[in-house]
Amino acid sequence: MHIPIFSQDTLQLTRRCNLSCITCALWKLPPSQEPSIKLKNKQLKKTYHLVGGEPFLSQRLQKLLLFLKKKKCTVKFWTNGQFSLDKWTTLLPYIDTVFLYLPASDADTYRIITGDDGYEDVMEKIDYLKSEEKTVIINVPIQTDMIDLLPDIHALAIQKKCNLLLHYCPQEAFAKDQVALINRYRRIPNVQVFENHFPNAQYCVGYVDAVVHDKKQILQNWFEKVITSFYSLLDHREHKR
Ligand code: SF4
Repeated sequence: MHIPIFSQDTLQLTRRCNLSCITCALWKLPPSQEPSIKLKNKQLKKTYHLVGGEPFLSQRLQKLLLFLKKKKCTVKFWTNGQFSLDKWTTLLPYIDTVFLYLPASDADTYRIITGDDGYEDVMEKIDYLKSEEKTVIINVPIQTDMIDLLPDIHALAIQKKCNLLLHYCPQEAFAKDQVALINRYRRIPNVQVFENHFPNAQYCVGYVDAVVHDKKQILQNWFEKVITSFYSLLDHREHKR
């Protein structure tokens, strides 16, 4: 079954993150204030995607989740999952679907990509979420040099009974056989392939146009898009040398 994605409102709660993935420029940005979020009662949508950085780091998360629950909105929550069970247990009743960032299917590769030793922790969190009967969608950005990891990540998703969301930028220089592999995943049940048309924005959400509500924020987002593209381009060049 394919899942609809980003058809409703998307709210970016913070740009901060507890990981420092090699492909991501977000954590390199100078600290900034949390994006402003103003939800008007009359204009509420049925579903909200809450994204970061890492939304668990947002000071407003609990308040926002309570508000959305009260308004009977569906919440789709994008996280890397590495937070204490206490935090999960407190907030889980307000979350309907978890999009869990998992760029590798073994601890060593996970450490190389994310700079973090938390692979086993993420595995435990998936088991916990499944035991609570939550829908978990493993979220994987596809890049040219990481595409070989996909079959193992897909096998892990099957083993954990999770759906899989693959997102990529078609403007990147994928080889023919890599494009063929991506297209093969389009035909696999419980896998959704999403095209992100923002070259060089290699971060885990795969969707940079989160809805913002004031001009200052729009300007700041635009500025950060330019900076993230710049950092990613530099990284890409370094990587090629
Ligand atoms: S890719 Fe996602 S999890 Fe990794 S540092 Fe960037 S925002 Fe954080």
